[in-house]
Amino acid sequence: MFAEIVFPDLEGRSFTYSIKPGKEEKQAIRGARVLVPFRKGVKTGYILDLKEKPPRGITTIKPVMRIIHPVIPDRLFRLALWMADYYFVSMGKMLHSVYPAPARLGHNEIILPGLLFSMAPQLLKNLVPEKGITKRALLEKGNYQEREIDGFIEKGLIQRRVLVQDGKSKERVIVYTGPETTSPEISARALRQREIVDRLLAVGGSLPLKEFGRSSAVKALEAKGLVAVREVSASRGEKKQLLFSPFLKALTSEQERVYQDVRKTLDKGFSVHLIHGITGSGKTELYLHLMKDVLKKGRDVLYLVPEVALTAHLTHRLEAALGERVNVLHSYMGRRERYEAWNRAFSSAGEVFIGPRSALFTPSPHLGLIIVDEEHESSFKQEEAPRYNGRDAAVYRGKEEGIPVLLGSATPSVESYYNAVHLKKYRLHILKERYDTAVLPRVTIVDMRSDSCESGKTYPFSREMLNQLRKRKERGEQSILFMNRKGYHTALICSQCGTPLECRHCSHLLTYYKGRHVLQCHLCSSHFSREDVRCSQCGGNIFTESGMGTEKIDERVKELLPELTVMRIDGSTVGRHDTAKALFREFEKGGADILIGTQMVAKGIDFENVTFVGVLSADAMMNLPDFRANERTFQLISQVCGRSGRGKKEGEALIQTWMPHHYVLQSALAHDYEAFFASELAFRKELGYPPFTRICRIIFENREKSVLEKECKELEKQLERISGPAVTAIFQVFEKTPRRSDFYRAFLLLRSSELRELRRAVFSVKERCRKMKSRILVDMDPAYLGL
Ligand code: ADP
Ligand code: ZN
Repeated sequence: MFAEIVFPDLEGRSFTYSIKPGKEEKQAIRGARVLVPFRKGVKTGYILDLKEKPPRGITTIKPVMRIIHPVIPDRLFRLALWMADYYFVSMGKMLHSVYPAPARLGHNEIILPGLLFSMAPQLLKNLVPEKGITKRALLEKGNYQEREIDGFIEKGLIQRRVLVQDGKSKERVIVYTGPETTSPEISARALRQREIVDRLLAVGGSLPLKEFGRSSAVKALEAKGLVAVREVSASRGEKKQLLFSPFLKALTSEQERVYQDVRKTLDKGFSVHLIHGITGSGKTELYLHLMKDVLKKGRDVLYLVPEVALTAHLTHRLEAALGERVNVLHSYMGRRERYEAWNRAFSSAGEVFIGPRSALFTPSPHLGLIIVDEEHESSFKQEEAPRYNGRDAAVYRGKEEGIPVLLGSATPSVESYYNAVHLKKYRLHILKERYDTAVLPRVTIVDMRSDSCESGKTYPFSREMLNQLRKRKERGEQSILFMNRKGYHTALICSQCGTPLECRHCSHLLTYYKGRHVLQCHLCSSHFSREDVRCSQCGGNIFTESGMGTEKIDERVKELLPELTVMRIDGSTVGRHDTAKALFREFEKGGADILIGTQMVAKGIDFENVTFVGVLSADAMMNLPDFRANERTFQLISQVCGRSGRGKKEGEALIQTWMPHHYVLQSALAHDYEAFFASELAFRKELGYPPFTRICRIIFENREKSVLEKECKELEKQLERISGPAVTAIFQVFEKTPRRSDFYRAFLLLRSSELRELRRAVFSVKERCRKMKSRILVDMDPAYLGL
């Protein structure tokens, strides 16, 4: 047999290898990760296809060295195929993302002599005995870097063997797969069968098979489709018998209605549900009930969240309700933990896998439900290849698996809401009431145009804002001040010629940090000393400060309200997620009267004593050059305001603006998502933006600005002909690439109401650019325009 192999770094090409007959042949399936000889070394690749005969004209075919286990289920392979096609990525890259990075297990990883060991440097030869050495020991004794070892492996000098402890000992369990709502009918004489079913229903989930043995009763139940026997990792088996029902709360009638509606579809194949529920309406509670139903049947749940850093609270809640079936997969985890969780997923029966977009690739073979929480968040979109949207790919996975997908949000994305309301592709469920007596905060607006005389002295605070802050202090309550920009001044303008100071590397406006006395670029993280900067136009060194960030706000609050204590949370005060957690905890304990912060304060925090939220910079967010700026502002304001009044006390929120009549603010004020959606949809329609069109952004990169410009100019000349009448194409500005500042970039935006036409245009641009020196990257459904 022959395998067509693809590699992540060799795009658009595949290579043929042979597979030894026998055991190897049985293990070889598409999607498998393999080790193959390549040029002078060894390389990791993926089986794309299997063939009886090699392609004609190929004479020397090398054999596959090893098939690395475990291999992803075929449904995941099909998901990868779809994603590779839709997002214009190679299957090599795509499969490389589907598999986690091989676990670097430290002492559990054994290094052995490789195929080309005889060519290894003497030191390596001395250190690696025939029976192998642990990786950790090799790192220490050889004083090597991790990277060097990887290099030796790539060259085939040594090889690694991973010892996964968990995967080895398996246990068989029996799971209930019968109807959910009624206990199945079983003939009165089949007492043993009745007993088994009743016990399974009572514990919910699974029981070790050894309790029953593979008896005739079990076999009879299997034949009726009422139970199934599965293999799970032994170490997990016992914990699975935990009961969960006593910990679940009784649903309110509104929640119950939605629950029953969704529940009905659990066994009915693919469906998508959009749960539009205001903050605190019990979406999570609803998910818990649905998850319980799925887990009871021995099926798994995928729970995707926008960002894991802030989900500790959620995880505890899931664990309290569902027991030890909750597996968190996140980027702060060590490779080993992550690899083990991934491994476990192959043999799971009734577990929850919670994680960010990459958790989409959890290889569970028995998925029963996918939940995408906060589906509107742009962090579901990956900003490097493969540039996929985790939410949209989750919907596709649901389709492949034939299971329901739940998208939840208090402020759904315009695309999802449109899919539900206009296209009827998703079923819409609405939760209107906040649980218990909690009510939504009262939101008001300060018109800064009329308040400006007062705020001259107190800028950027209106009188109303200061009064509110004082009032909360008097009542012993806390406030949050939201400012979407960090730093002290967000721009410095040359006093002589009016040119704003830009980053030397990427032309982005520089932000001034007073505390550290530096200017920083938020795109490429370059720092410049305040003393050294000169205007790029006239060489002047006197600057007018403009635009405020959180650091300045912090200072102003202290000047204006010296009796109040302040804490600040933004990207510059917290380095890692641990620090953020610690700061939040301190604030929750009453560590300060006011918490000042960026986006970070908008999400997932629940403080009893916070009764006031002030939004200082709504306008700046709306004015960003991106068609989603309005949507993001609405979402963020709703979210931030939702932080107020989470406890027993009523909350208030205040938004300062120069555009008080803007529909974004008016609908945020009224907590009226539908009103926002209607206005926003009209705006999108008029300008031809999604959901009425689809956008694909093509990125061109080159070290030489002149080459890039020349190539783009040439392309631009032919653009109309290439893109065709159904596609509009525009070139955006040239930029230096963030973080890789020696590259220049140009963006080409393609837009069409016809997906087919858009794809055709992308293909022809790619085709046309094949001989270009510039690199081209395709970004389908980009999350951010502008930069
Ligand atoms: P959401 O996810 O929509 O923001 P949650 O599920 O977190 O809402 O619910 C908000 C709060 O109300 C939580 O503390 C939750 O425990 C509580 N709650 C919601 N529904 C119920 C219920 N039916 N019974 C008891 N508490 C509930
Ligand atoms: Zn820069």
